[in-house]
Amino acid sequence: MEYISTRGKVAGIGFIDAVLMGLGDDGGLLVPKHIPHVSDDTLAQWQKLSYPELALEIFALYTDGEIPREDLKQLVDDSYKTFRDKDVTPLRRIKDGLHVLELFHGPTFAFKDIALQFLGNLYSYISHEKNSIIHILGATSGDTGASAIEGVRGKKGIKICILHPNGKVSKVQELQMTTVDDANVLNLSVEGNFDDCQRIIKELFADVAFKQEYHLRAINSINFARILAQTVYYFYAYFQLANSGTGAGTVNFSVPTGNFGDIFAGFLAKKMGLPVGKLILATNENNILERFVNEGVYQPGEFHMTYSPSMDIQVASNFERYLYYLQGEDATAVSALMEGFRQKGRITVSGETLEQVQRDFAAASVENDDCLATIGQVHDDFGYLLDPHTACGVAAADRFTAKSEVTVALATAHPAKFNEAIELIQIEQTFPAQIQALFDKPQHQKLVDGSNSAVKAELLKFF
Ligand SMILES: *Cc1c(COP(=O)(O)O)cnc(C)c1O
Repeated sequence: MEYISTRGKVAGIGFIDAVLMGLGDDGGLLVPKHIPHVSDDTLAQWQKLSYPELALEIFALYTDGEIPREDLKQLVDDSYKTFRDKDVTPLRRIKDGLHVLELFHGPTFAFKDIALQFLGNLYSYISHEKNSIIHILGATSGDTGASAIEGVRGKKGIKICILHPNGKVSKVQELQMTTVDDANVLNLSVEGNFDDCQRIIKELFADVAFKQEYHLRAINSINFARILAQTVYYFYAYFQLANSGTGAGTVNFSVPTGNFGDIFAGFLAKKMGLPVGKLILATNENNILERFVNEGVYQPGEFHMTYSPSMDIQVASNFERYLYYLQGEDATAVSALMEGFRQKGRITVSGETLEQVQRDFAAASVENDDCLATIGQVHDDFGYLLDPHTACGVAAADRFTAKSEVTVALATAHPAKFNEAIELIQIEQTFPAQIQALFDKPQHQKLVDGSNSAVKAELLKFF
């Protein structure tokens, strides 16, 4: 399987090199040259597989023999044995037409674990096979950092540095990251917001000489391995519904969206041949993607802090992958759009192109009040507690699920991670023991200003 860049200047690299490259050396994002197609017969064969068995089949399509099957199986088994639920991503029925896919049974109680447990093990495998050092650098709006750190803490041959926006992640997220005391972990708390952190990382990675000298590797969802790992649960949810006799025909998915990684995985699953109906893109007040789908204008707006901080994102790092398919896999057209975005801060589509966007996605932005009301209502009516991100997805699902359709709303985090919001509606929850224990541990982090040079200086000391 060959991987290429959305900007056309990287081509012919394999899976492992695509994982190591992260962001394309030409500034684009890496995608498979051809998306593998899964036939109806294969779908039928996959229907009864366990989660790890299914992950192995899907990963095998994209790694295409580069990692021997036994090794790949070991990587998959190691990555999902840390999950607390035997189904890895169990599906819960809420009401007719609405199911919630619980993606938060990994070590840090958010869906990021599904991809980052795998990516951590994969990096460790590659480091061992190639006998090379790996320095991971990433930015987080809260969940990625915790999950990435958990994926590689204490592992030989790997160091990890995570930037988070100071004071703009939830208490539990901060504790999950900063109470880790392994020497291969550095937390930088950046004065600024998530977009500042992401910009610093992007610029440091764009310095190809620096990236190569220090063996810098990415864990942000620009890494194709993360997208790949996230396609699995779309298939798995579909099969769980089919096995229960509920989901004949197509299934809609509603996805709380920030960097567009998770929903892009759904888009990819659909392109592979999974019978996905609507892909419902749910945002909070940071609704650049909702405006793009509904109005055809992709333009960062004012930054809002919300109850769903992992979606407080203006510039969605995976969006370019979708643009590539929207432009008929034309890298020249994508490069022109991204250059226009750099200069004018805006991308506009209209006519037939906008109609295509609206065939691919439905979108709703769910504001704070609506988010809390949804948590309260689902708790009252069905005795099920949603976290604020998931609540955005559930509210959007309610708007777009027609009678006789079935929508799976992705539950991207456990509510205990976002108790700040849950408390506001006077719901008392019991924390899982693993989360409760964090409050007694000392924290390790360094405050830096939001400049590339300050971050670079800390990195040079750490590496
Ligand atoms: C990261 C995250 C999201 C957004 O996912 P993207 O892939 O960035 O769109 C949503 N909810 C939670 C809880 C997250 O951690």
